[in-house]
Amino acid sequence: MSTIFELISQFKAIADDPKKAMDDFKKETGKGAVGIMPVYCPEEIVHAAGYLPIGMWGAQGKQISKARTLLPPFACSIMQSVMELQLEGAYDELDAVIFSVPCDTLKCMSQKWKGSAPQIVFTHPQNRKHAQTAANVFCRAEYAHIKEELEDILGVKITKKALQNSIAIYNENRAACREFSDLVAANPGLIKLRDRHAVIKARWFMPKEKHTAMLKELNEAIKAADKAPFNGKKVVVSGITLEPYDVLDIFEENGFAIVWDDLAQEGRNFRQDVAYDEDPLMALAKAWNAFDGCSLATDADKPKGGMLIDALKKYDADAVIVCMMKFCDPEEFDYPILLLQFEEAGVKHIQVEIDQESTSFEQLRTRIQTFAEVL
Ligand code: SF4
Repeated sequence: MSTIFELISQFKAIADDPKKAMDDFKKETGKGAVGIMPVYCPEEIVHAAGYLPIGMWGAQGKQISKARTLLPPFACSIMQSVMELQLEGAYDELDAVIFSVPCDTLKCMSQKWKGSAPQIVFTHPQNRKHAQTAANVFCRAEYAHIKEELEDILGVKITKKALQNSIAIYNENRAACREFSDLVAANPGLIKLRDRHAVIKARWFMPKEKHTAMLKELNEAIKAADKAPFNGKKVVVSGITLEPYDVLDIFEENGFAIVWDDLAQEGRNFRQDVAYDEDPLMALAKAWNAFDGCSLATDADKPKGGMLIDALKKYDADAVIVCMMKFCDPEEFDYPILLLQFEEAGVKHIQVEIDQESTSFEQLRTRIQTFAEVL
C-alpha cells in the first residue's frame, strides 16, 4: 500500500497540472476532454461519452491584462482568470466547453467566449422548489440538449446504459470524497489544508473511477494512521473556492482545521448522490432540483445558513469562515441573510475575500490572526 505522503503527492501533481492530466488521458484512451465551466454541470453526460470532463478553475495569482478588454473590472476574479487563459489559447485543445449560466458574469462569459472549442450553453431552472415537477421537466430538457450537442460535436452516441453506469461511478466517487472529508475531520492534525484541497481538486481533472481508486487507498491509509496532535480550532468554510494556496496556508499557520466545507469547487459537488431513476437524464435533473444550500441553486427558503449551523454542531466546530469570491454577486446577495442566521444562533464567524489574482496576503493574515485570537 502506498503511504499517505505518496498518494497526496500524486493528487497534488494532478491538481497542479490539469494540462498534463488531459494529455495523459488522451494518450491512454485516444479521446479528448470537454471543459466544464464553473460551477455546476451534469458531468456524467460527458463521462458517458467516453471523454474527460475537465474543470476550468482559472489559475492562482495570474496577472490579468487581455481579459480586461472583454470583462469589466468588477467581474469576479475567477472568470477574469478563465478569460485570460482562454485568450492565451490554454483551452484550445478542448473538444467542447459546457457553460451553465446562473449569474450575470457567466452569461457574459458565454457570449464573449472566443475559444476554438465549440460551446454548449444550458440553463438550470430557477423556481426549483415550489414547482418541482415543471422544474424537473425543464431541467431534463436542458440536459437532453447537452447530450444531443455533445453527440453531434464528438460524433458519439451516448446510450442510456452508459449514462446509468456513469451516474453509478460518480456516486461511488462522491461517497469516497465524503468519507475522506470525515476522516480528515476526525484526525485534524494529520492532513495539511493544502493537501486536503489538492486531493479534492484533483477530481476535476481525472476520470472519476481513477480518482475513486486512489482516494479509497488514501482513506485506508488515513484510517491506519495514528492520531496526530491538534491544538487548534475546527472550522466550517463556505464559498466558491478556497484558493490561492496562500489563503489555506494562513489558515494553517493560525491553527485552523477544516472539518466540513461548503465550497462550490469541493463539498457541494459530493455531499449528495444522484438517486436512481429509470430515465438517467431525469435522475440528474431531479438531483439538481433537490440540491440545497448554494447561492447559485435558487431557493427562496434560504436553507444555507441552517445547513452551515448544522454542520458546525455535527463536527463540533468552533466557527464558520465565509470565503467570499471577490465580486461574486450571488454569494454577496445571500451574505446578509447568513449574517442574521449566524447572529441569531450565536455562531462565531468571519468573512474573508477570495481573489484569485492576489499575490499579497498581509491584510488577510492580520484578520485571520485576530480571529484566531478572538476564538
Ligand atoms: S464566482 Fe460568482 S460571479 Fe463568478 S462565475 Fe461563479 S457564481 Fe458567477
